[in-house]
Amino acid sequence: SAWEKQVRHSSTPRRLNGFSVLVTGAAGFIGSHCSLALKKRGDGVLGLDNFNDYYDPSLKRARQKLQSKHQIFIVEGDLNDEALLTKLFDIVPFTHVLHLAAQAGVRYAMQNPQSYVRSNIAGFVNLLEVAKSANPQPSIVWASSSSVYGLNTENPFSERDRTDQPASLYAATKKAGEEIAHTYNHIYGLALTGLRFFTVYGPWGRPDMAYFFFTKDILQGKTIDIYRTQDDKEVARDFTYIDDVVKGCLGALDTAEKSTGSGGKKRGPAQLRVYNLGNTSPVPVGRLVSILEALLNMKAKKHVIKMPRNGDVPFTHANVTLAYKDFGYKPTADLAAGLRKFVKWYVSYYGAESRVKKEGQHADETER
Ligand code: NAD
Repeated sequence: SAWEKQVRHSSTPRRLNGFSVLVTGAAGFIGSHCSLALKKRGDGVLGLDNFNDYYDPSLKRARQKLQSKHQIFIVEGDLNDEALLTKLFDIVPFTHVLHLAAQAGVRYAMQNPQSYVRSNIAGFVNLLEVAKSANPQPSIVWASSSSVYGLNTENPFSERDRTDQPASLYAATKKAGEEIAHTYNHIYGLALTGLRFFTVYGPWGRPDMAYFFFTKDILQGKTIDIYRTQDDKEVARDFTYIDDVVKGCLGALDTAEKSTGSGGKKRGPAQLRVYNLGNTSPVPVGRLVSILEALLNMKAKKHVIKMPRNGDVPFTHANVTLAYKDFGYKPTADLAAGLRKFVKWYVSYYGAESRVKKEGQHADETER
């Protein structure tokens, strides 16, 4: 097939030195940034993405185009396609998988629950099944989410805190992913590292997230909904800038052990790790809006309402000492500076359109 030829002839995923990384969700927000960063430092990268239409697929195509300029090839296919994954691992001896493909968004789960089960549970299991039989067995770093902390209100969240109160099906599938990872580590000796991301934002971001559609709506003069908690407090998020998250992902890959193979008997148990990758400073949504107003030099029309039970949680706050200790993760971006870069990208990407275009996309105000 066409992709097979591309993969075979591409030197990209094959490296004598450095890693060979399969990046799933490579046409996505975090995946595209990570692929470019890996490639830039000399690792081999091959992408996989199904280019679904959860949000504007043309944005995914634009991210793909940017990567292809840097000789990164993205195979178009689904995590659940076992034959495709098997073939990919047959052709390329991946040392690592950076697994970022998932059905994201907390609110959309009420409309389309099966999509979460398909990608985040069945798709993850399929990937692990293929990886466990691959030679070599790759180390896997995968995206979990701060949403696993659910309705927990004791902050900051550290990795050992309770994760038994998921507030959305999205959170439940991410939590399930952590349990599934544990099993594959235990039985098959796969080295696995889970990263709990906290509301990642930045250029090339996701249109279903608050900072993104607030920007769009403010520019278009549309009213934005600002949620307050049931007990009338501000909703806050530990917004984390994409460059910090990329550093965290690369740090996790760099410190990942090799998988030990079935049962992990030969070299002792393989690694199973879970880390928070947040910013450690929650910001109320009202503050997010005033930063955007200042950057756009426009006033937002605000509609303040109590939070409906739509999967959102009142706040998130990461403790990142573990990631700091193990791979030096240290978030440095300040929200205003990060949003400035986002707005600059937004205006140049959407251009004159940014003031008039109306898109019927999913809104996921405070997704984690
Ligand atoms: P994204 O939606 O931009 O990227 C995910 C990509 O995966 C998309 O391009 C999509 O087309 C692809 N995909 C989805 N299902 C697939 C399937 N079955 N087969 C192949 N490809 C598939 O999202 P993102 O913000 O880049 O998130 C990356 C990961 O990080 C996800 O696992 C997400 O749940 C997690 N995460 C993100 C955030 C955040 O704030 N952005 C927070 C917590 C966790």
